[in-house]
Amino acid sequence: MGTVWQKYTRQPPEALQGQTGCALAGTMSQHEERDMPAHYMVGETVASYCPQCQAGLPHTIVDMKGEKIAQVTCTTCGYTDKPHAAAPKARVSRTKKGEGSPQAVAALWEAKMAAARGPERVYTRAATYGIGDIVCHEQFGTGVVLKLASHKCTVLFKDQARLMAAAN
Ligand SMILES: [Zn+2]
Repeated sequence: MGTVWQKYTRQPPEALQGQTGCALAGTMSQHEERDMPAHYMVGETVASYCPQCQAGLPHTIVDMKGEKIAQVTCTTCGYTDKPHAAAPKARVSRTKKGEGSPQAVAALWEAKMAAARGPERVYTRAATYGIGDIVCHEQFGTGVVLKLASHKCTVLFKDQARLMAAAN
């Protein structure tokens, strides 16, 4: 998993300072120019931690403040936030606890339920859902929509996340 998003990671501008003098001298080749971005730009893809997907994933830059990235949108779920370090400490502790363990899922479910703002709706495969919607399933109980896909959505219930049919 680690290497999947690492290829999107770009060197910070500081790391390139040594080469900038070279660029100013006008001796750089085409190849060097391509590998040496001066700074980030809106529309570029960078690695960031997505709190919604709970993983380091490619994000599109949607807002810049000077040379700093102000906001990024997750290319997986569309969640927009300020950029986070691609490998957060939370991920390490989650792995220690045992990823997908009943306690971890229940804790995540509680956090998601507390953060969810959508109205509670009875689950039906004929309905369309949005991320953060609360659904009530007759068998699985109450859950929160985590991800959307074509005709499907991932709903986190207290015991586990399930891929559910939807009209999306
Ligand atoms: Zn995401």
